[in-house]
Amino acid sequence: MGEQFEALNQRYQEVVSRIEQAALTCGRNPADVELVVISKNHPASMVLDLISIGARNFGENRDQEAAPKAAEVSAVSTAEITWHFVGQLQSNKVKSALSYAKVLHSLDRDSLLKAVVKATQDSQKPLDVFIQLNLTDDPGRGGIRPVELEPFAEKVLAAEHLNLLGVMGVASLDNPPAQDFETIRRASEALRKLSPESRFISAGMSEDFEEAIAFGATHVRVGSAITGKRQY
Ligand SMILES: *Cc1c(COP(=O)(O)O)cnc(C)c1O
Repeated sequence: MGEQFEALNQRYQEVVSRIEQAALTCGRNPADVELVVISKNHPASMVLDLISIGARNFGENRDQEAAPKAAEVSAVSTAEITWHFVGQLQSNKVKSALSYAKVLHSLDRDSLLKAVVKATQDSQKPLDVFIQLNLTDDPGRGGIRPVELEPFAEKVLAAEHLNLLGVMGVASLDNPPAQDFETIRRASEALRKLSPESRFISAGMSEDFEEAIAFGATHVRVGSAITGKRQY
């Protein structure tokens, strides 16, 4: 095994143990926090290396990049992995994205909901979705405003082939992460009043996943802390 593989393995193991430690520190069960490795801007070969190390959940934010990568991985590996789509999704890319992604973290507007409902109308198994919250004042950042969560969630819950897992957020940089994670946690509480099963929280990235876990994150999306710097 090469040096690069060893370094990747080390970074991965370190993040896994930091997640465990963060969960234990706040009295949570480490098994209740799922690591989604964000593989964007890295090749299929790195995903295969991560599979050999034990990673099973991968996230991507651009369909143009993810579709061929997912195909390349599934041509070589028989491991049961799950692709998560975590980026802003254009309605015309929904069909392609849902051909590999089994979890959509970024459901954030009526037009996208409409496209997702259409794309899943014949599916056997419901699609797992998170509603993405916008934690900034900039509507261009994607996500719905926390005050609009409940009416939007009602529409998602009414969709037959969607399984609403919970809420997702990206810390805004406008506020301290703790403030955003608290906003997400409160939104999750409000959602659980409508739908007790929709209890999951997708929050936390390389810089802030431990803090997100303290605020209840159940899915952390960690890229560069595992993959190293992305090449643009
Ligand atoms: C890129 C990305 C991540 C991972 O970011 P890192 O800082 O590299 O851990 C998480 N979530 C989303 C939505 C992303 O686009």
